[in-house]
Amino acid sequence: MEDTKIPEEEKAARSLNFIEEIIEEDIRTGVNDGRVHTRFPPEPNGYLHIGHAKSICLNFGLGKKYNGKTNLRFDDTNPVKEDVEYVDSIMEDVRWLGFDWEERLFYASDYFEQLYGYALILIRKEKAYVCDMTAEEIGETRGTPTRPGKESIYRSRTVDENLDLFSRMRAGEFPDGSRVLRAKIDMGSPNMHMRDPVLYRILHAHHHRTGDQWCIYPMYDFAHGQSDSIERITHSICTLEFEVHRPLYDWFIREIGIYVPRQIEFARLNVTYTVMSKRKLLELVRDGNVSGWDDPRMPTICGLRRRGFTPESIRNFAETIGVAKRDNVIDVSLLEFCVREDLNKRANRLMAVMNPMKVIIDNYPEDLVEEMECVNNPEDELKGKRKMPFSKTLFIERDDFMEDPPNKFFRLAPGREVRLKAAYIIRCERAVKDPGTGEITEIHCTYDPQTRSGMPESNRKVKGTLHWVSEKHAIKAEIRLYDRLFTKENPDDNEEGKTYKDYLNPDSLKVITAWIEPAVLSAVIEPAVKTAGYTTSGSSAAGIFDKYQFERTGYFSVDKDSTPEKLVFNRVVPLKDSWSKVEKVK
Ligand code: ATP
Ligand code: MG
Repeated sequence: MEDTKIPEEEKAARSLNFIEEIIEEDIRTGVNDGRVHTRFPPEPNGYLHIGHAKSICLNFGLGKKYNGKTNLRFDDTNPVKEDVEYVDSIMEDVRWLGFDWEERLFYASDYFEQLYGYALILIRKEKAYVCDMTAEEIGETRGTPTRPGKESIYRSRTVDENLDLFSRMRAGEFPDGSRVLRAKIDMGSPNMHMRDPVLYRILHAHHHRTGDQWCIYPMYDFAHGQSDSIERITHSICTLEFEVHRPLYDWFIREIGIYVPRQIEFARLNVTYTVMSKRKLLELVRDGNVSGWDDPRMPTICGLRRRGFTPESIRNFAETIGVAKRDNVIDVSLLEFCVREDLNKRANRLMAVMNPMKVIIDNYPEDLVEEMECVNNPEDELKGKRKMPFSKTLFIERDDFMEDPPNKFFRLAPGREVRLKAAYIIRCERAVKDPGTGEITEIHCTYDPQTRSGMPESNRKVKGTLHWVSEKHAIKAEIRLYDRLFTKENPDDNEEGKTYKDYLNPDSLKVITAWIEPAVLSAVIEPAVKTAGYTTSGSSAAGIFDKYQFERTGYFSVDKDSTPEKLVFNRVVPLKDSWSKVEKVK
């Protein structure tokens, strides 16, 4: 990169990334009159994933930061793989992430006529020719990076002949694959992309926007740079694999003689324990390895949304990882850290028991129900308080009781005391077992009425505090616990004879039932406003995407499968990073 004139100290203080440095230098030197115009250019051939989110945040973020503009442009040059379903989902995802393309929604297919005109310019300049070789023949004569390719025998066709054949290609006179239009550049170029690349192919396919108007379609490489140019994009930001295409894009722009955008490449985002290519994600969906594009285990934006990630957490993640010039893999725990941090501030707390153990308070009156006051979010006083019913029969987590515990076990055990959060200190008197199986079926406790939380005399301290719910007030809900979709950090790095699919984690989804305090009902069953802007859900159940912290357990989000009769929650993330704990133990 050129030496930018921004002083080192200033760069460090403002911690500009390398793209921002380029842009600021361009602004400073008056390139494009200081205008900044970026774009996000997805191909509508699948749903967006977290890697795209990175690109969206980057492009729209730069537009915002430099008072510029950002276009959304669909690079829809391949009718065979593209679909309006994808177009719609992409728009929804970009909006959900919090970005706005305003009136600047474009499609490469809008430029088909213009691109055709550019092709004619090249033909007239003897820079393009119609080639009758088959795709295989073209492949075979391309050579290798160390061996030059062979020139096509059709390379010497006259301008008139090329114009005639190209217009007849457009008119539909020839079958698919019989002819292509190629650039006439250099079959000996060390850059394979410069070896007379194909510009147009014949494809009698219906396009989701242009219908049957065209039977020749431009290649992505012939459309992308020119689309940027037509939209007068100042900084065309793309991933590293396009670096080697840049000379070709520059060649097109120069030969056609149109506005020159500046292409800047950055490293694609990879995340551990997942795959990121749309092709593979589509395979997982088609083969039923996941329930759909929005399966909460998928790295897709709609999957993350359904899982319970917030736009803020994803934007924060994108910001934190920054932009790199070399390929790297980001630990998925960083993404989880970002959502935890966000939900900690925003999610109300509830108590929920996942694996219940019945607790009977022997000295508590049979029919008494007391309302215990609980803080909704200790991080945010404005979230207020709620009441939680306490009664004689409760549930606690099975793991919170041990019949014969080690010394350091500060939870419940015979003869030991714990505090039930927001309620009383209880003491375990005895455990009752099933005589057949020996399994503990219930535990009997006594409570100390002087220890009610918040009361002046409740100062007595015990080491452990447990969450609990009142049996007769608890609401049953289905809970979906997710783990990594793959067991291998990089599933694409497969051993011989294996594919990424061999590393699918068979335990990535576990469904359990939980008992949740009744406040979950008033919180969840409310007008269906939260579903606004989420059109793929198809469910009218209220409160979808409501998020909670279940005390001591994790963050949970209401799934779209919820109905007023049955609540379904997705676990967004456990409270702590259980994986890093495992690593520490090792
Ligand atoms: P995939 O390889 O997953 O199919 P793609 O690059 O073909 O992705 P496009 O629809 O062409 O998908 O991508 C739209 C934009 O998103 C491009 O500018 C591309 O560079 C960017 N992008 C795609 N994947 C990533 C990623 N993993 N990290 C950062 N940016 C990405
Ligand atoms: Mg692509």
